[in-house]
Amino acid sequence: MKVLSHIGFGDQIAIKRFIEILRPYKKLIILSVFCMAGFSAFTALTAYIIRPVMDDVFFNKDLRRLFSIPFLILLVFFIKGLFQWGSDYFLQAAGLSIVSDLRAKLFSHLTFMPVSFFDNQSGGELLSRITNDVQEIQEAVSRAVTGLVRDVFTILGLTVVIFYQNWQLALIAMGVLPIAFCPLFVFGKLLRKFAHKSQQAMAKLASIIHETFRGVRIVKAFCREDHEIKKFSNQNREFLHYAKKLAFIDAMASPLMECIGAIGVAAIVGYGGYQVITGKATPGTFFSFIGAIILIYRPVKSLSRINTYLQRGLASLERVYSILGQESQRAEIAPTYLELPSIRGGVEFRNVSFSYDGTTRALSNVSFSVEPGEVIALVGPSGSGKTTLVNLIARFYDPLEGVILIDGQDIRRFTYHSLRRNVAIVTQQNFLFNDTVRNNIAYGKEGAQEYEIIEAARLAYAYDFIMQLPDGLDTIVGEQGIKLSGGEQQRICIARAILKNAPILIMDEATSSLDSEAEKEVQRALENLMAGRTTFIIAHRLSTVQRASRIFVMSGGKIVEEGRHEELISSGGLYRRLYELQYGKAFKLNRTAEALELHVAKGN
Ligand code: ADP
Repeated sequence: MKVLSHIGFGDQIAIKRFIEILRPYKKLIILSVFCMAGFSAFTALTAYIIRPVMDDVFFNKDLRRLFSIPFLILLVFFIKGLFQWGSDYFLQAAGLSIVSDLRAKLFSHLTFMPVSFFDNQSGGELLSRITNDVQEIQEAVSRAVTGLVRDVFTILGLTVVIFYQNWQLALIAMGVLPIAFCPLFVFGKLLRKFAHKSQQAMAKLASIIHETFRGVRIVKAFCREDHEIKKFSNQNREFLHYAKKLAFIDAMASPLMECIGAIGVAAIVGYGGYQVITGKATPGTFFSFIGAIILIYRPVKSLSRINTYLQRGLASLERVYSILGQESQRAEIAPTYLELPSIRGGVEFRNVSFSYDGTTRALSNVSFSVEPGEVIALVGPSGSGKTTLVNLIARFYDPLEGVILIDGQDIRRFTYHSLRRNVAIVTQQNFLFNDTVRNNIAYGKEGAQEYEIIEAARLAYAYDFIMQLPDGLDTIVGEQGIKLSGGEQQRICIARAILKNAPILIMDEATSSLDSEAEKEVQRALENLMAGRTTFIIAHRLSTVQRASRIFVMSGGKIVEEGRHEELISSGGLYRRLYELQYGKAFKLNRTAEALELHVAKGN
């Protein structure tokens, strides 16, 4: 390992990791190495048997040998082929298994990462870690093992053959060969540079494709198809530019190398020919020698590139490990954590403060206590901290200061899973998986029975429309539920939350307005969902706010007012201003009418 590190293959930790990931598959690798050794020996043998072919068959015209040598050739090539198959297959199998393990490990680690991790990562980048980086590692594994074992063995075997055949010629060849391989090393650097640039260009290209198709409605609504095409074409051209440079250099390396190699071959032919003519060597020795030199070309060429692949693989391994090294929220790894017993649903915040970036406070010193079964409406201007507050209840983030208690117990004492099993969440975006209606609802409860799914769908007022879908519960909803209307999507999400049957419910009310019929059904579904649960609802509708047992009015990360709708209206604070802003004239007219009524009543 130290040797590898010293000759610039990478730092010791990276190489140690590299060897670590190979360890579980050492049997396959040893098998492959054995085949590689066999392959190398038989490659050397193929060069060696040129000599008896030439000398015995063509020059000595030995008839007996003419019968045995073709069989020998067949046998040598057959065994060599067998070894080649074994070395390639066993190594590929090991490489693929390593990569599959790593991919699975990475995905499961990522799934358990905290929400804050995903705030700072783009989906495209993570996708590239799981696919491209892992692929690069596989490439490095197979290239490195092949290079370090098969190519080195083959070169050694063939070197033995050339020295054995003619040591003087071998010395000439050894002098010229390194010069012939110079271009490879020089070009290697350029190749790496342009490979990096073309990969970057390809990544940008991929992100344009991703973004354009994701935002296809916006692109069309703003008639910007041509703009997107132009953006794509420019990036595509940039990629082409670097890819062509790469191809130019790559294509030049081989012929240049061969031209320089020709100097060596010319010298060998000159000196070797002289030896044959003067009878110091047989023609067989000479051709066997040339054969070995030709055979040595491929392994030396691939060996010269191994560092590039190894470097790319090690860099990818580092990127993958940088994620694997970050702490995830896998509950099982914390034995001190407890399972949350079945709860009643009382929620208390004690002097809770929170910040996303460590400086600006998204919540500051928030305290409240909510009884089981209460419905709390959170209102306030955008950015006032409503979402942040509910995110803390499910421990998507932890408070900077203060504690959050459920039924009087600090929520940090419990495993994430046992806490989250007690909290149902319905988000504004109505997230649906591209799966059947049944599976989208059943997501709320592992191993849900058919009757439970139907019951939940009924309570969410979704059953009737589901039955009218082409395949009923088995209808695929399309990516993010695209095949359903907004109201239908909402009701499926509500059914999912009903099925989960958690004592605490968090809801972000959808802001997009539905037509009044759909609205009514969603409202009824929500009533069924909220029944008997402690509910926190980020409210946008008057009807919701009026039904709440209490309203928390938020501003600048604080709860500034608290009470029922009527109380807050009459106290004339922020809530009233927000309310007037939203309901404007209609509200003022109502108030005037109320005042008049009061006045008349008093007068009477
Ligand atoms: P609301 O739900 O009331 O609109 P939020 O709770 O979403 O408000 O936001 C409160 C503050 O926290 C805002 O200033 C917002 O910019 C900031 N914020 C929200 N989410 C994040 C995040 N993931 N990373 C950094 N800052 C955030």
